[in-house]
Order: sequence, then structure tokens, then C-alpha cells
Amino acid sequence: MIGIIGAMQIEIEHIKSVMEYVKTKEISGIIFYTGKIYGKDITLAKCGIGKVFAAVCAEAMILNFKPDVIVNIGVAGTLTDSLNTADIAIAKSVVHHDLDTSPLGDPFGLISGINIVNIECDKNVVRLLEKCAKPLDVKCECGVIASGDQFVCTSEKKSYIRKTFNAIACEMEGASIGHVCFINGVKFGVLRAISDGADEKSHMDYQEFVPIAAKNSFKVIKNFIEEY
Ligand code: SAH
Repeated sequence: MIGIIGAMQIEIEHIKSVMEYVKTKEISGIIFYTGKIYGKDITLAKCGIGKVFAAVCAEAMILNFKPDVIVNIGVAGTLTDSLNTADIAIAKSVVHHDLDTSPLGDPFGLISGINIVNIECDKNVVRLLEKCAKPLDVKCECGVIASGDQFVCTSEKKSYIRKTFNAIACEMEGASIGHVCFINGVKFGVLRAISDGADEKSHMDYQEFVPIAAKNSFKVIKNFIEEY
């Protein structure tokens, strides 16, 4: 079973439209779609925006549908000059950029208890996602993806996240999904297409490029399902 989570309708609708034998189940207000794509078992959900919804969704998916792997798909802001709108960012690891106990001497982003900052994605999942992005006519980079409960839209914040975590893209769900997968021992990956520059004009880019970015993320996950 391959689990797929997107935050918004636009991020899941293409993949939902190619699913066959679809059944639905609602848990904690989230609709889980189970069915088949390329003959493979899929569970798909729209978690909603932000880290809490993302964590609830990942935990409910793991406990109820027992996926072998979860891939978080969708859109993100770029943190580098080399990734532009419509390009693909694949996480090697994820971090919570807004998790901060640094006044107590901890590194920024430390997840106390498990005592790590970066949550590593499954290496085979990363490799396969990278391979599946190749046929698209856009740039693809693998690196750290940073999540926080805020839409990043200032050069100052963008530069803080890039420098502190060496991150290539920012969004609002990936690290939560990775965190939940990590504590449950489930393989995971995060696949995002760039919707905006995460700076002062990001809200303008975002409205224009979300549909294109969501389509590109769909194309990669579709290839991934076929190859997995
Ligand atoms: N009220 C809006 C909120 C969208 S938030 C709505 O319900 O549609 C933006 C979404 O896109 C989040 O899911 C986040 O993961 C992603 N995203 C894209 N660009 C981002 C950026 N610059 N900073 C943070 N998240 C971003």
C-alpha cells in the first residue's frame, strides 16, 4: 500500500482522478480514498494546511491503512536561486524550521525526545522520486525541505531558513508527516513542485503557479506509483 498525502484539493485532485475502485472512509474529518493505480494499492488523503492537520492525517493513515510508504506531494516556496517556479524539490531530509528551544542551548529545529533536527527520508524512495522527475522538462533538486506553520514571504525569513537548515524549499506539512512516519517506523518521502519564491512577491507567484506546480508534482508521483 502506497500512502499519498497532499494538503490541498488542487494537490490531490489529479491523482484522485486516475484512481480506480475508489472507497472512502472519514477519520477525524479527513477523507481517506483507497483504490488502485497501475494495479497498486493506494491510500490518498487531503490533510489540510499546516503541521497539526498533517500529523493527524499521517497518524490516522498509518494506524488504519498500514501503508508501506507515505509520500507527501504538493507545492512549496523555493529557498535557492537554482529552483524556480514549476521545478521539483525532493527531500533528502525534512526539518521543522519553527521548532525552537534554542534559548535553552539546543540547536534550532531540535526535536527534543528523539534528539534530531533532520528527519531522513527513505533513500530508495528519494532515488525513485528523483528518477521519476527526470522525464519532466523541469529542474529537479534533492535536499533539505523545511516546514513550519507559516507562509514564508519575506527575504529575511527565507534567508534564515536557508542558512540555518541548508534547506532548498519551504512548506507547511512535510516535516510533520516525516516526524510521524519516523516514530512509527514507516518509510516516507516528500515531493514538492515550486509554486513561489518565498519572498515579498510570493503571494503573487503563488496564485499563478500553484496549478502548474500541483500538476508537476502529480506527474512525478504518477511515475513513482508505476515504478514502485
Ligand atoms: N488559506 C490557504 C493557505 C495556503 S498555505 C488555503 O487554504 O489554500 C500554502 C500551502 O502551500 C501550504 O500547504 C504549504 O505547504 C505550501 N506552500 C507553498 N509556498 C509556500 C511558502 N512560501 N511558505 C510556506 N508554505 C508554502
